[in-house]
Amino acid sequence: MPDPTPMDRHCLVTGANRGLGLEFVRQLLARGERVVAACRQPGRATALNMLAGEHPGRLHVLPLDVTTARSRDELVRELPLVLDGARISLLLNNAGVLHGGERFGQVAEADLETSLRTNAIGPFLLVQALAPLLADAAASPGAVVANLSSEIGSLAQRHEFRTPSYAIGKAAQNMGSVLLARALAPRGIRVVALHPGWVRTDMGGAQATLSATEAVASLLQVVDRLGPADTGLFLDREGQPLPW
Ligand code: NAP
Repeated sequence: MPDPTPMDRHCLVTGANRGLGLEFVRQLLARGERVVAACRQPGRATALNMLAGEHPGRLHVLPLDVTTARSRDELVRELPLVLDGARISLLLNNAGVLHGGERFGQVAEADLETSLRTNAIGPFLLVQALAPLLADAAASPGAVVANLSSEIGSLAQRHEFRTPSYAIGKAAQNMGSVLLARALAPRGIRVVALHPGWVRTDMGGAQATLSATEAVASLLQVVDRLGPADTGLFLDREGQPLPW
């Protein structure tokens, strides 16, 4: 079966209103994909709404707070109307949160909870809920689920006490990625955890080494190059494996 052309493919990006999420939407649209951009406040997503005007029928902006069951359920209900019978070929679980300035002795339960809900629990439950809408390998190349992780979530690479809520949330997300990879393997759906590098966004800050344009371009190349057996991996933006 030939690969579907980008025009046939549907992609879903979470946290799509700014930062890496917005850049994923821009680059996917530029190469001809159809995109569902999910964000917490579509009414305020000025850049996304402008892009929707420039790409009529190819970009839909839908509400999603990944931490809320009702919001995830609503997205799952609305998606079939937008997909028009098609399945999702690429799901980018990009929404994430980092609490800066945490110190040992003062780590707040609320920040740990928010990080776990946003970085790990929300994306895991979203994939579980969206599973029926992901493309199977039987009909086309199976879907890719790319979870935006971070090397900060690598247990093997933690040598100092830094951003504990985020590190714990991303480490939990990594386990979720591995488990989802196992659950979806029989359908030929590949699940990977991707570290984008240190990127100039609201989260990465102005001193970061990479632009969002560079980071997203290289991550999309990594996704494009994933083979049928490349599931359950933790990869950097060059496609090199990272230690868990
Ligand atoms: P960012 O600029 O802070 O943007 C975060 C995005 O996530 C925003 O769109 C935000 O929406 C959304 N979000 C936060 N909580 C959400 C929720 N509960 N439901 C739905 N959306 C939510 O971050 P970024 O740098 O683009 O990061 C994108 C991803 O890459 C994250 O998963 C991050 O952990 C990962 N990452 C980034 C870097 C880096 O250097 N930038 C490095 C490693 C990994 P609102 O606008 O509504 O707040």
